[in-house]
Amino acid sequence: MDKIKNYASVKKFSQKEGIDLFGVADIRGVKGEFQSLESLAKDLESAICLGVRLSAAILSEIIKAPTRLYFHHYRTVNAYLDQAALKVANFIQRKGFRALPIPASIILNWENQTAHLSHKKLGVLAGLGWIGRNNLLVNEKIGSQMRLATILTDLPIKTDKPSGKDCGACCLCVKACPAQAIKESPVDFDHIKCFEKLKEFQRQKLVDQYICGVCVNVCKGRK
Ligand code: SF4
Ligand code: SF4
Repeated sequence: MDKIKNYASVKKFSQKEGIDLFGVADIRGVKGEFQSLESLAKDLESAICLGVRLSAAILSEIIKAPTRLYFHHYRTVNAYLDQAALKVANFIQRKGFRALPIPASIILNWENQTAHLSHKKLGVLAGLGWIGRNNLLVNEKIGSQMRLATILTDLPIKTDKPSGKDCGACCLCVKACPAQAIKESPVDFDHIKCFEKLKEFQRQKLVDQYICGVCVNVCKGRK
């Protein structure tokens, strides 16, 4: 009963902080994949997954390459999420439990695309969506048009289950990708081709970070 009450209270608090997507994952089976969190995450059993929606208007301009407006927006949403995650973590701490917020965008190795943990994989476990052909989390209602952050905790809390859904017949991002990195099967996603394109965008000084947004713009969910 406490687990259900805690789920409801953390969700309500998160939504008041402007969180659009909320779910909780059981992390006991995936903790081995985390990096540099061995001792910190040792006694933590759940991941609270938070998502904030990106502006569809800003994304709509990204047809072949990222824009300066998207670059600023991307950073703003990440910062917004990090602040919300901090507030949710403190809400949990005030209940007497541990809470470890993992920022929206903190990369340990860009070339290998590694981080402390994968927000999108935890998002799948938390029932927020599936990994799409574009290698991003896809939510049924808003597609990939979100940013994510995670809070690891030992708070007793109800956990969600994966939705079991997938992209179905949609192939919009396959056609849109300027690097031809997106394939029919999500497992064939070409990380190297994608990263080479991100480096090209940065060399062209379109953005100051390895971001693109083309496949995010076309991924609007499946109603
Ligand atoms: S981020 Fe850009 S280059 Fe990478 S898969 Fe998406 S559309 Fe292609
Ligand atoms: S655009 Fe379509 S195929 Fe691509 S990730 Fe989104 S739902 Fe899947």
